[in-house]
Amino acid sequence: MFCPVIELTQQLIRRPSLSPDDAGCQAIMIARLQALGFTVEPMNFGDTLNFWAWRGEGETLAFAGHTDVVPTGDVSRWINPPFEPTIRDGVLYGRGAADMKGSLAAMIVAAERFIAHHPNHKGRLAFLITSDEEASATHGTVKVVETLMARNERLDYCLVGEPSSTEIVGDVVKNGRRGSMTANLTIHGVQGHVAYPHLADNPVHRALPALNELVATEWDQGNEFFPPTSMQIANVQAGTGSNNVIPGELLVQFNFRFSTELTDAMIKQQVQALLERHQLRYSLDWQVSGQPFLTASGKLVNAVVKAVEHYNEIKPQLLTTGGTSDGRFIARMGAQVVELGPVNATIHKINESVKAADLQLLSRMYQRIMEQLIA
Ligand SMILES: [Zn+2]
Repeated sequence: MFCPVIELTQQLIRRPSLSPDDAGCQAIMIARLQALGFTVEPMNFGDTLNFWAWRGEGETLAFAGHTDVVPTGDVSRWINPPFEPTIRDGVLYGRGAADMKGSLAAMIVAAERFIAHHPNHKGRLAFLITSDEEASATHGTVKVVETLMARNERLDYCLVGEPSSTEIVGDVVKNGRRGSMTANLTIHGVQGHVAYPHLADNPVHRALPALNELVATEWDQGNEFFPPTSMQIANVQAGTGSNNVIPGELLVQFNFRFSTELTDAMIKQQVQALLERHQLRYSLDWQVSGQPFLTASGKLVNAVVKAVEHYNEIKPQLLTTGGTSDGRFIARMGAQVVELGPVNATIHKINESVKAADLQLLSRMYQRIMEQLIA
């Protein structure tokens, strides 16, 4: 049986869009949107293709997503070649099936059905699509958002198609994400011979009590929507490889996933105070890769919850777990941001897959959200 959502998902999977290469996916989407009367504005930066498309005016609901995919891994371990979509027992296999070409197809088909019923919809329907979410995310959504903000574009509601679900489509909806920041810490000592420690200064010995305190710190207790902030040491390096040399430096890299109880500035201050207290000689630099955001309630959350309830007879859980997403950039526009997409059990894995029926349901949910907000 012909299903437009599955058909379009397969067309997109056939284009091997390894991040940040779009490989022709956006051209397919743009042709479909132009046929619906959308104005399409390409916003390409560096090696990254993006576009912003809109139809109508007024209160704006945007669908956001990415056409790029992560590498396939060992192709011989795939049951079918990763860029040759295959359906077996109602499950569609292929790289990007769940993350997130299935969602993109569901959005486009939902827009087609919505516009067929409401050619003169009252609000504005928009699409914000990038080919750089999975890799560096430097020339993608962040740049488009900056451009839109510079000209005061309106964005009230944004639905991101990231695979949010756990077991059935819509069981989990993400209404925020934790912030993420990384510290690169160097503790300086004095290199020397292990037999003459009084002539050296061992940075590992000096750092251990401070690191111990860092690990034991309770940063916050989280809140209704966020788990407690967590800190994890990711990399530690010291030593020359020789057993008779006291190292001159210790490098420690650690990452925070933080809730809306804290800001990056508060965490930086607390870490610096701790290092000062231990009287270490150190250098420290920070990379903030995302601020936390939260859409606690409002029209978009309501519309999403109702759409899921209507089609799946379950009440979705609102969670903020998982890694960062492009929602962190879009939230800066002051928009309500929610992520609703397919089951994420196989994303980034060998034999990535999604239930075909779930994509059809997802498309119906997207359409119902459009109807509630801008019909
Ligand atoms: Zn994704």
